[in-house]
Amino acid sequence: MNLRPLCARLDGAAVEDVPLRVSDGTRLGLCRVSRDDRDRPAVLLLHGHTASADMFTLPETRNLVAVLLDAGYEPWLLDWRGSRRLPYNEDGTRYSYDDVSLYDIPEAVALIRGRIGNRPLLVVAHCVGAMTLSMSMAAGLVPGLAGVVAQGVFLTPKLYGRARLRMHIGAEIMRNRGYQAVDIRRAGLWSKQSLVFALASLGSECKDPTCQILHNSAWGTGASLYVHENLHPLTHDRLADLFGSAPLCALPHLRQNEPAHAVTRWNDADGRYRALPQNALDHADRIDCPVLLLSGSRNRLWADSNKLCHEVLRTRHPQLDVRYTEIPGFGHVDPFIGRSAAIDVFGHILDFLDEHR
Ligand SMILES: [Zn+2]
Repeated sequence: MNLRPLCARLDGAAVEDVPLRVSDGTRLGLCRVSRDDRDRPAVLLLHGHTASADMFTLPETRNLVAVLLDAGYEPWLLDWRGSRRLPYNEDGTRYSYDDVSLYDIPEAVALIRGRIGNRPLLVVAHCVGAMTLSMSMAAGLVPGLAGVVAQGVFLTPKLYGRARLRMHIGAEIMRNRGYQAVDIRRAGLWSKQSLVFALASLGSECKDPTCQILHNSAWGTGASLYVHENLHPLTHDRLADLFGSAPLCALPHLRQNEPAHAVTRWNDADGRYRALPQNALDHADRIDCPVLLLSGSRNRLWADSNKLCHEVLRTRHPQLDVRYTEIPGFGHVDPFIGRSAAIDVFGHILDFLDEHR
């Protein structure tokens, strides 16, 4: 497990690894990035599933961590258990998103709070990082945050049409397989996984197998992770460094969330998870901080989930401070890893953080 490639990319910043083993025994990655001894507001960054904290520190573009440091914040990067920098997506560990909502996020927040004292703590979260955060918030496990930016999805997951269908079929077909790789060298040329690569390559203008499986198929789900032309060529060439294998044990939970367009608890029979509500959306009134919902206008994974979330929360809980900003021309993950993200996206995030720091 290598959790230290970050410091080389953050000019002049100090990167401190903070050991974190959560109470079910799972070791996670957490690091604090700082540049001086100033008392800066802290910002916890939560990556998407199979990505990692690396998605916020791209060396080839102006990345979010550098932008936050320049704006006077102290970024904290959590590699929760679905990170590609940790072994759990490939080593047969069975986990669910409940574990992230119950253990990873609340215990990371508690640890950071212990370090920063009374300074404000804000969160910027992407994809499953944002979805699992919404469950932690609805469970009342992370009260008192100063503000939350949720990109792509939050309390109301709604899959892009083609992905919705494949998620239902795929969850059955792939139930007993371990994971779907995105790097064909890891999948093996004659493995069952290679069929998914072959299907993803059909009609693709791009020759890179990792790009084909992420852009045309998103691990075989039929979704798409980014608008192709929004990526820097260097980012495109190292997609396999940024995205890892998807453990298929997570699919049934996504499928369960879909019909209700709500984040639900997966482990109903196990008493350890009783701290999580059965349906997070039903407990949205526990949200106690301003929320900015972000989405690319061309999100082909979660479609208009965050627009829907904004409408639902505005109707049901008009007292909440919830806003929605759509980024024209962006897809799912390019709002963070796109070559013009610093110009087109990060300003929206900074404006919101500055207002609530
Ligand atoms: Zn490509």
